[in-house]
Amino acid sequence: MRVVLLGAPGAGKGTQCKNIIQKYDLVHLSSGDILRQHREKGTQLANKAKDYMDSGALVPDELIVEMMLSAINEAPKAGFVLDGFPRTVNQAVELDEALAATGEKVDIVLNLTVHEQVIIERLSGRRSCPKCGAVYHVVNLKPKVDNLCDNDGTELIQRPDDNPDVVKNRLRTYHRQSKPVVDYYKSRQTEIQFYEFNANEAAEKVRDSLFEKLDALVSVQN
Ligand SMILES: [Zn+2]
Repeated sequence: MRVVLLGAPGAGKGTQCKNIIQKYDLVHLSSGDILRQHREKGTQLANKAKDYMDSGALVPDELIVEMMLSAINEAPKAGFVLDGFPRTVNQAVELDEALAATGEKVDIVLNLTVHEQVIIERLSGRRSCPKCGAVYHVVNLKPKVDNLCDNDGTELIQRPDDNPDVVKNRLRTYHRQSKPVVDYYKSRQTEIQFYEFNANEAAEKVRDSLFEKLDALVSVQN
């Protein structure tokens, strides 16, 4: 099962990815996590990406696609959930072409939709571990010890991009880029199953509707 999970920052993609990969035994391929691993290892790819970011430019599609395809190739055959990728239509097309070359395809696209106000509330309470990337929330997902990471005891931070003003900006960018990606997948609904989910609800409710849909699809495939 090859799944693409779409949704604005704060839509709960990370949480739902975890739910899905556990239940269906898939690999979580998050572009943010993978880029972080490249940076830690100091790979050539990370250095190239850094040059772009340092100059204030966006990391080009080819570099992101190269990085994600190599992660996909290393993933077990059972399948994966892509998170944060593809972010542009160009990336989506390149992904489809690369998969088609080995007779594979994206099976399911899940789009989590959320109101802007809900996102701002969620993100401004978010705290992250600068060491391992784990994400917490001051109300919904507290660490065991106040303000310290459960995994490694590192002091949690509010990422500058979770500040409400920055969030509004990120949302504008997201909608500008993602609308065409959503339209692209909708236009391919003969080959790809595309579903939208109301992610304004509590995470457990969203999880249950995702499971319901995926269970139905898995039983059809088997
Ligand atoms: Zn940590």
